[in-house]
Amino acid sequence: MRVDVVSIFPDYLAPLELSLVGKARQSGLLDLRVHDLRDWATDRHRTVDDTPFGGGAGMVMRPDVWGRALDDVIADTGSDADAGSDGEQAGVAGDVVGAPVRLVIPTPSGEVFTQRTAEAWAQDARLVVACGRYEGIDARVAERFRERGVVVSEVSIGDYVLNGGEVAALVVVEAVGRLLPGVVGNPESLVEESHGAAGLLEYPVYTKPPAWEGHEVPEVLLSGHHAKIARWRRDRALERTAARRPDLIEALGADALDAHDREVLRAAGWEPPAS
Ligand code: SAM
Repeated sequence: MRVDVVSIFPDYLAPLELSLVGKARQSGLLDLRVHDLRDWATDRHRTVDDTPFGGGAGMVMRPDVWGRALDDVIADTGSDADAGSDGEQAGVAGDVVGAPVRLVIPTPSGEVFTQRTAEAWAQDARLVVACGRYEGIDARVAERFRERGVVVSEVSIGDYVLNGGEVAALVVVEAVGRLLPGVVGNPESLVEESHGAAGLLEYPVYTKPPAWEGHEVPEVLLSGHHAKIARWRRDRALERTAARRPDLIEALGADALDAHDREVLRAAGWEPPAS
């Protein structure tokens, strides 16, 4: 997969050189390029924003600067400032140039980015993430790219307001990147996670030592009895989800719960919907 991130603070994306995402970049599983939006500004102050039409506080990012930047990044021509540097990251790039692009515009007014979104986007060949600042990006940018056949996804990473889209870009790259084949060493570890296929939060996890400062690891986990361990884990996942995210249990639907699940939920004080 190729991901381009456009920002006025490209250094903000430096953590993407670390850990699993950093390794995925080194091994060519993920071709990630970061661009400075100001390279597409045309005045000597490298201006990217202006006052909002209709009045009000703050500044809005100009559509003309974003339009030029995204045209070049999508077409993979780069800005003049990029010349000579993009080509250094060869690897998988050649496979995806010309592939359909999803333009991701992080915004608190977008649809919420979830694990389902990450799973869907992990199938894409190219993501281009446009990081807003100030009061956001002129609305015509999304409109123009949609009109030209680009899939535009305006997404929020949660119900709060950040100063800029860079943290959202980090979230998207981390969540999508770890789903790419080969990025997480043992793909099994993706199966039982929170927000996975079971629709529950993950059960509590433990490691050595079995006793620590008076806290014992639950006996069943030391038993080696796989069926009992699986049942214990599902019970704890149900209890935890009912306590912390009852909306997820509601979303499961009655058919996803068997009689034992219902007992566990009742004991946890949650009345399951009638089957
Ligand atoms: N005026 C905007 C509003 O009220 O919807 C908020 C703009 S915010 C201060 C500046 C930028 O931060 C946004 O353009 C977006 O890129 C990013 N941002 C802030 N909160 C976000 C969130 N919850 N999810 C994704 N991006 C966010």
